Amino acid sequence: MIGLTVLGATGSIGVSTLDVLARHPSRFRAVALTANRDAERLAEQCRRHRPRYAVMADPQAAQHLGELLADLPDRPEILAGVEGLEQVATLPEVDYVMAAIVGAAGLRPTLAAALAGKRVLLANKESLVVAGALLMRAIADHGAELLPIDSEHNAIFQCLPPNFKQGLAQVGVRRILLTASGGPFRTWPIDQLAAVTPEQACAHPTWEMGRKISVDSATMMNKGLEVIEACWLFGTDADHIQVVIHPQSVIHSLVQYEDGSVLAQLGNPDMRTPIAYAMGWPERIASGVNPLDLFAVARLDFYEPDLERFPCLRLAYEAARAGGTAPAILNAANEIAVAAFLERRIPFTRIAAVVAQTLDALPTESLDGQGLEFLLEVDQRARAQAERFVQDQGI
Ligand code: NAD
Ligand code: MG
Repeated sequence: MIGLTVLGATGSIGVSTLDVLARHPSRFRAVALTANRDAERLAEQCRRHRPRYAVMADPQAAQHLGELLADLPDRPEILAGVEGLEQVATLPEVDYVMAAIVGAAGLRPTLAAALAGKRVLLANKESLVVAGALLMRAIADHGAELLPIDSEHNAIFQCLPPNFKQGLAQVGVRRILLTASGGPFRTWPIDQLAAVTPEQACAHPTWEMGRKISVDSATMMNKGLEVIEACWLFGTDADHIQVVIHPQSVIHSLVQYEDGSVLAQLGNPDMRTPIAYAMGWPERIASGVNPLDLFAVARLDFYEPDLERFPCLRLAYEAARAGGTAPAILNAANEIAVAAFLERRIPFTRIAAVVAQTLDALPTESLDGQGLEFLLEVDQRARAQAERFVQDQGI
């Protein structure tokens, strides 16, 4: 039996993970489930999946969870805070850790899982954007495995040869073609974007996801974060990654080879496919996803991204090329700006402006010889700076 910890069990990826897990009761068991504040939902999941541990990041919510599960025989041990998250990411009875917390908040437990030599199923792209070098080194030095859950990166992983770690040029890869749906505003008049509401931004045309990543998809910052994520996962640079708008979200990404071949992975847009692939790898296991019907899809379209409509994508490419602390600053400023937009404190179009202003205000520093504490400090500084730009709407 493979023991699994699900970090962020109550979220969109967490729920899909538990759905796949429940289809294979003789293969996987849930050792630990975690959430931030939603004790009610985690309590339901504990009744259904019977984990040994349940963690609430918020200590008050942990107390509430204890009350909700008081009548449950063999109830899970309840832990709280980031220490609790790190503890369940490193337990000896845990083999795989699904890293599905949203934002840089996922970094510490994800890194802890890597340092403990686990198979890390990585949905939490922000942790690679903030601390790619640290996380990749932890994986390599501690015999851990890193399998991408992000649908594009999972597709690329499926289209690369097994020896891709020798270097993409070495194995005959010319470049990666990273597909993007273009989000809900791909064809809107640009002058209407300032009036976009959180509800409109969260109504993604092809994927159902958490609110933060839905807004990131609407600004295309999500694709920018994914460019940086792909650089770390596949040992390449931003100039070898081409973003391709593909509104149907059926091709999940492609790899272009020197001999003219292009390999693609296709499927219905349902995260249970990449989740099952990473949980089963190197085997293929059932995911519950409907088979792709090409006659129903009928056509596949492709467009070049418009960097005026999507300035966040341009900012992310610039941060990827700058390296050092720039991606961590980009990510922190984006998290603050997206939260402010969802709270209706700034208009949609200010998200990119806040990120650009924060990157301008904080010089890029080298990460040579730096560790986690320095990165967390950079993250905090960038959040404080971005918050000042949010409050000072006139700038
Ligand atoms: P979500 O908002 O639906 O769920 C987030 C989960 O993280 C919840 O369980 C929540 O309780 C937990 N969480 C939030 N803040 C926390 C904190 N401070 N400390 C501890 N736990 C916290 O998000 P999601 O859509 O499931 O996305 C999760 C991650 O996966 C993100 O990094 C996202 O970019 C990535 N991802 C998601 C999808 C998707 O289809 N949803 C696709 C690709 C990648
Ligand atoms: Mg993706």
